[in-house]
Amino acid sequence: MAFTLPDLPYDKSALAPYLSAETLEYHHDKHHNAYVTNLNGLLQGADAEKSSQEDLESIILGADGGLFNNSAQVWNHSFYWKCMKPGGGGVPSGDLAQAIDKAFGSFEGLTKELTQAAMTQFGSGWAWLVLEGRDLKVIKTGNADLPLKHGRVALLTIDVWEHAYYVDYRNLRAKYVETFLGNLVDWDFAAANYAAGR
Ligand code: MN
Repeated sequence: MAFTLPDLPYDKSALAPYLSAETLEYHHDKHHNAYVTNLNGLLQGADAEKSSQEDLESIILGADGGLFNNSAQVWNHSFYWKCMKPGGGGVPSGDLAQAIDKAFGSFEGLTKELTQAAMTQFGSGWAWLVLEGRDLKVIKTGNADLPLKHGRVALLTIDVWEHAYYVDYRNLRAKYVETFLGNLVDWDFAAANYAAGR
């Protein structure tokens, strides 16, 4: 066994017109797949037999350099696909909605912070809603870096590498982030992560 590229949780054309089939084809079949291939190529001996999510997380926590970059990007992308769904957008409900109001004043307060994090990440990286202890926080990370490496639990992420949006939005990261939050985000996934992580 080795790590494998997970299927997208929806059809490649299912997020159109917000993200095109062409974007998902490149982002999933080329970029995400390359991280999986690179990771498997870097693992030797007993590590080459590893394939589970728990294995992946233990590799990430112990790695640096190329092994960290590729293992973290495998984790980040597998997580990112689940942060979107056809017919996404709207607002969170239940316990997560209450926690967001408490931490950010309102849902608008959260979207403002998430947008700010996504827009001010210089170069490639990720914007995240995370649990830090029992508190909700918005953070950004550069390149492959991720909350797990900093003792935080990821609830939601926005990939702000150019490969995530350049086909559909060219250089307009702001338009991509607005569309992600308006039409793509799966708050049920974030709520499930919140319920599991707190
Ligand atoms: Mn990406």
